[in-house]
Amino acid sequence: MTVPFTPGLHEIAADTYAYLQPNGSWGFSNAGLIVSGDEGLLVDTLFSVPQTRDMLDAMARALPRLTIGTLVNSHSDGDHWWGNQLLPDATILASEAAAAAMRRDRLHELFAAPGAVRLPRVAEDMRKTFDFTGITPTLPTRTFSGELEVAVGRRTVRLIEVGPAHTAGDVLVHVPDAATLFTGDILFVGGHPVIHSGPVENWITACDLILCLDVETIVPGHGPVVGKREVRTFRDYLERVRDHAVRAHGAGVPVIQAAREMDLDTIADWDDPERLVLNIGAIYRELNGDGTPGEEELMGLLDQYVVPRPAAPALRVVPRPADTPRIAPRPASEIATLAPRLEGPAAQLLADGAGPLAGRPVLNVLATIGNHPDLLVALVPLLTQLGQGLIPPRRRELVILRTAHRTGSPYEWQHHVRLGAAAGLTESEIARIPDGPDSPGFDGADRALLRAVDELCEGHTLSSATWQELAPHHSTPQLLELLALIGTYTLIAGILNSCRVPLDDWLAPSA
Ligand SMILES: [Zn+2]
Repeated sequence: MTVPFTPGLHEIAADTYAYLQPNGSWGFSNAGLIVSGDEGLLVDTLFSVPQTRDMLDAMARALPRLTIGTLVNSHSDGDHWWGNQLLPDATILASEAAAAAMRRDRLHELFAAPGAVRLPRVAEDMRKTFDFTGITPTLPTRTFSGELEVAVGRRTVRLIEVGPAHTAGDVLVHVPDAATLFTGDILFVGGHPVIHSGPVENWITACDLILCLDVETIVPGHGPVVGKREVRTFRDYLERVRDHAVRAHGAGVPVIQAAREMDLDTIADWDDPERLVLNIGAIYRELNGDGTPGEEELMGLLDQYVVPRPAAPALRVVPRPADTPRIAPRPASEIATLAPRLEGPAAQLLADGAGPLAGRPVLNVLATIGNHPDLLVALVPLLTQLGQGLIPPRRRELVILRTAHRTGSPYEWQHHVRLGAAAGLTESEIARIPDGPDSPGFDGADRALLRAVDELCEGHTLSSATWQELAPHHSTPQLLELLALIGTYTLIAGILNSCRVPLDDWLAPSA
């Protein structure tokens, strides 16, 4: 099943829940809940008391008779246990190694005392984002090493210690009867992890163990709910970072330089790339064997790491799952009820798609605008008209793709790459659209269209030169339609980008 990456409680299997906090960056962790009858086992609390209170309120609303008798802390990072005090009657379980780290943890005091110590930018940002006041560290009441089976009503949950890896005492929470695994921070999705402890080989072994478990639904410590494919991707990441770090260490390259020089390639869109400094540093520490560089020293380097921009053009990078919609798409069933207000292909677009979209669920862009039904009903006929207007399809898609590029809309780009290919644009033509009108290989008519997009995006009018290039080859209605096409797709891009409309599932790229 696909679980949307939206904030709050999601039932991911029968009586099994994930509590998600997009976008999964620093301090935005996930939690889990396993229920049997009125009994519940909670996997992790959150970074602060208010966040944890919100989560427990959401659980109480969904399951009014629930009693959480057991809490498992997957590891010792504050974003997985600083809310423990709100469960004063629960048995709190953690590995002995995690509990030892929790007993030493005074970081919340540092966070709660603004200005006392200058912290790296990411830590200062966390101070501003979360309310760290009122934390009473509430430690595990029962610890274990290795494996432990815990009963929740009639269900059994397996705790499997796999640390030291991310931290000293990482634990996986396996729910065999739901084929579900809560990984804590042994898995990050959509963002770089942090190697606090290592060794990295233990972490790779933990990934192998996950891949051998009979599980389908995997809830990472940070990021969306996924399956095993993402675990494989993550395992590859660990190996790539390890190999890069070993090479750089052997060549005497300083940590910060090694982080900057790492080729991010397929992971260029992962969040929190500055964590490479910590991760490469942790592997240097393993190789040095003398405890250097320490994590504090590495945290001091974080601000020196300049986030590399992904290789141009950025538009070939699809939106991350971490981009939470600001306005969520309405359900398809609700959008379909608007179809009778329209006719022909416009009505079909709201019902079950039309043309190349036939049979697809309603597009997220339409379902988002559908939060204003009258606006949607007014816009769809215009879009339909432009989609089957007077400009030949290949030229129309060329213009829309250049508009998507100029307006920085990955959603528009992804959709029209498909439509453009269907309309006769070659793969290499599409690849050259971001390079603009002067890219070699476009003929004069194409160049004039690309230039028209650029001029309208920049100055909202066409130059005399461009007008004179276009006029002989287009009728007056076609010229008007061209202007409307560029303007309409600029309008749509503004809505897509600002509302952070998620890419439709069936278009999501396979990693
Ligand atoms: Zn975490």
